Amino acid sequence: MGNNKKLKKPDLTKMSQLLLSGATMLSESCPDCAVPLFKKNEDIFCPNCERKALYIKNKEEIKKIEQTFSLGEATTQLRDVLTGKITFLTNQLASADTPEEIAYILDIIEKIFGIFQKIS
Ligand SMILES: [Zn+2]
Repeated sequence: MGNNKKLKKPDLTKMSQLLLSGATMLSESCPDCAVPLFKKNEDIFCPNCERKALYIKNKEEIKKIEQTFSLGEATTQLRDVLTGKITFLTNQLASADTPEEIAYILDIIEKIFGIFQKIS
């Protein structure tokens, strides 16, 4: 898992307690320890360093970060699903025995790669 000594091990217990207490995990990470920042009430802070992140200035920026996070999550899910489909289609392609079948499968694979390019 790498040996970056700058990174502290995230305290998962503390992070889940924060989530249970109504805090939100943001897409931004702490500049010091790379643990995701949390937002509770209007405060944004690092659960690891136990200090506020002050560089996020207003509510609109916070909202933008929250949107980025949920979109990023959906994109990750989509990427996982598509990767699974490509594996499936590759197996189908291996057993395809007519040019029509091969062309059909390649057409779908091409579409999937098109989506990959859009979301990456
Ligand atoms: Zn930190």
